[in-house]
Amino acid sequence: TGAYIKEMEGARALNAYVLETADKAAEMAKASDARLQKGEGGPLEGIPLGIKDLFCTEGVRTTACSHILDGFTPTYESTVTSQLWRDGAVMLGKLNNDEFAMGSSNETSYYGAVTNPWKGKGEDKALVPGGSSGGSSAAVAARTALAATATDTGGSIRQPAAFTGTVGIKPTYGRCSRWGIVAFASSLDQAGPITRTVRDAAIMLKSMSGYDPKDSTSVDQPVPDFEKALTGDIKGLKVGIPREYRVEGMPEEIEKLWTQGIDWLKAAGAEIVDVSLPHTKYALPAYYIVAPAEASSNLARYDGVRYGLRVEGKDITDMYEKTRAAGFGAEVKRRVLIGTYVLSAGYYDAYYIKAQKIRTLIAQDFKQAYEKVDVLLTPTAPSDAFGIGEKTDDPLSMYLNDVFTVTVNLAGLPGISLPAGLSARGLPLGLQLIGRAFDEETLLRTAGVLE
Ligand code: GLN
Repeated sequence: TGAYIKEMEGARALNAYVLETADKAAEMAKASDARLQKGEGGPLEGIPLGIKDLFCTEGVRTTACSHILDGFTPTYESTVTSQLWRDGAVMLGKLNNDEFAMGSSNETSYYGAVTNPWKGKGEDKALVPGGSSGGSSAAVAARTALAATATDTGGSIRQPAAFTGTVGIKPTYGRCSRWGIVAFASSLDQAGPITRTVRDAAIMLKSMSGYDPKDSTSVDQPVPDFEKALTGDIKGLKVGIPREYRVEGMPEEIEKLWTQGIDWLKAAGAEIVDVSLPHTKYALPAYYIVAPAEASSNLARYDGVRYGLRVEGKDITDMYEKTRAAGFGAEVKRRVLIGTYVLSAGYYDAYYIKAQKIRTLIAQDFKQAYEKVDVLLTPTAPSDAFGIGEKTDDPLSMYLNDVFTVTVNLAGLPGISLPAGLSARGLPLGLQLIGRAFDEETLLRTAGVLE
């Protein structure tokens, strides 16, 4: 822990941490040592972690990197983090993220952008670490945390993992409790780890998973020993290659990476099957209706009365308006406006209901594919890490970065991104595996072979 605290303090220029809790870490590490000496160590005993600022941590400021949650200190601990502490892990601090997890580059945070520890060959410009879990991916890539918690609503675990050469797994919807995690789009949000290796991801995921009666969408399924799934044997495994993911304008090097991944799996004894997910092209538009709709409802609670920031006004309505005007950033406001619009009486059928129908069709596409194959292989993102500021004026091109990841959330399936090579600029590229619901074991086993 001491060594990691030093690394964390030495890497402040990355802006990965929005709050360092070195004293708490030292205290937790001491308790950990005492347990180990008594032979009572848990599976994560003494492991120093960074926690995305979306997870409520008792007595430790939690803001979702929004101004509107200024000074909010929860009186409770999220279920996922409490399970990590139960197993002996140590908290180094709270990690930066896009405001309310809305973004793909970690540039919408009230606390400023995070810098990717990677730089392009011969390039000097600062790159984004992906988002929304950019603090998590940067911290793990820069070795300032052994692993980190993250959340994924449309790709926020997998895309930042791809941009930083780390491993990120988004489990099946319902696998990890959402209780105590600041809500963005409740029917899509899932917690998961960002780690250096597939084995670390398996160990972290086991600790984070499990049924929680406090989350009504938590699923009562036994939690397997994910580490045991890493047998290295994928002989006879059927791997689907969804042809609709060969999107127009995909850079050649991404295409090549994908082919490389196919070859690796073939060499390991897997059978490659061409599959079709015909409704893929509707996923992005459907996601950018469903996610803002749920966000506009979830964010209604930030009224200046219950949490964080309050800007006084001449009456209560004026106070609400002034607080929300000052407290939310531009991207969050954009989402609230879109969400309110698509849920409004006149447009509900045309947008929201239609998006829900598309969601069902996308889930059915996957279901049909899984009658033929065990797992799907795709790229994680259509590009390598882009420059800070490069896409901030063009939200649409930012949203397009999520093209390969949002389908998985819409269908509630598990997905993992693992580092698979470098781009021509010398930057990490990720491959994504998508599995059947509650079959994270096959995902991890296959990822272990590709690693
Ligand atoms: N980039 C997507 C968005 O902005 C996904 C974010 C996430 O997964 N939290 O909504």
